[in-house]
Amino acid sequence: MDKVCAVFGGSRGIGRAVAQLMARKGYRLAIIARNLEGAKAAAGDLGGDHLAFSCDVAKEHDVQNTFEEMEKHLGRVNFLVNAAGINRDSLLVRTKTEDMISQLHTNLLGSMLTCKAAMRTMIQQQGGSIVNVGSIVGLKGNSGQSVYSASKGGLVGFSRALAKEVARKKIRVNVVAPGFVHTDMTKDLKEEHLKKNIPLGRFGETIEVAHAVVFLLESPYITGHVLVVDGGLQLLL
Ligand code: NDP
Repeated sequence: MDKVCAVFGGSRGIGRAVAQLMARKGYRLAIIARNLEGAKAAAGDLGGDHLAFSCDVAKEHDVQNTFEEMEKHLGRVNFLVNAAGINRDSLLVRTKTEDMISQLHTNLLGSMLTCKAAMRTMIQQQGGSIVNVGSIVGLKGNSGQSVYSASKGGLVGFSRALAKEVARKKIRVNVVAPGFVHTDMTKDLKEEHLKKNIPLGRFGETIEVAHAVVFLLESPYITGHVLVVDGGLQLLL
């Protein structure tokens, strides 16, 4: 199989687990992150003919260049995963404007830019599949995460609208909305306290989210869907 899957945020955490799963299934991977060394290490660990690229998703020219480079070296991108994300948790009254902008730019604008860049090829080839990684807080909201929640809620509206725009071109767009998952992003959280509020009683693992992402990437009759992977957290929110 020589189908190409681009994973933005593929150097660590959830994106890295998605890349590992897709590589095991025989896809060619493009691992993209700001830190090229991290992306190279992740691509190298996949053990095949996979490539790493440095890109800040919040910068349009970076995203455009990365798609040009990916097409030059790997061929057309058939699958796109947007797992690049940051959080700057704080109550709104204490949130600096620069932290609002960086979260919105990375989590929301970044996915818009990569989806737009992917469209040209996907429309030409009359097919493609995109999964954007949202969050349960984008659906339910969370105190101390108003801007992050807005970025993830916006991603749902964006993904569903885009799914409608491009369905006739056989391009599918879906969202996976995780709850708490063990990654660098959650390493400073008080798990002992938080897990009491999760019906399944624990944080999730990256592979458990990755399976949901890959399922949606490969499901030919699902588009505009939001798949929650949160150990039942939403039941209590
Ligand atoms: P990690 O912090 O483990 O990894 C984040 C990844 O995104 C890294 O590869 C990082 O690489 C990359 N990244 C960050 N900013 C940018 C940028 N501007 N441009 C390109 N790449 C970038 O995060 P997680 O794996 O935990 O999160 C993945 C996604 O899942 C995020 O969108 C997050 O919001 C979401 N999520 C995570 C949850 C969790 O509990 N972990 C829960 C719900 C949602 P580099 O720093 O080198 O750029």
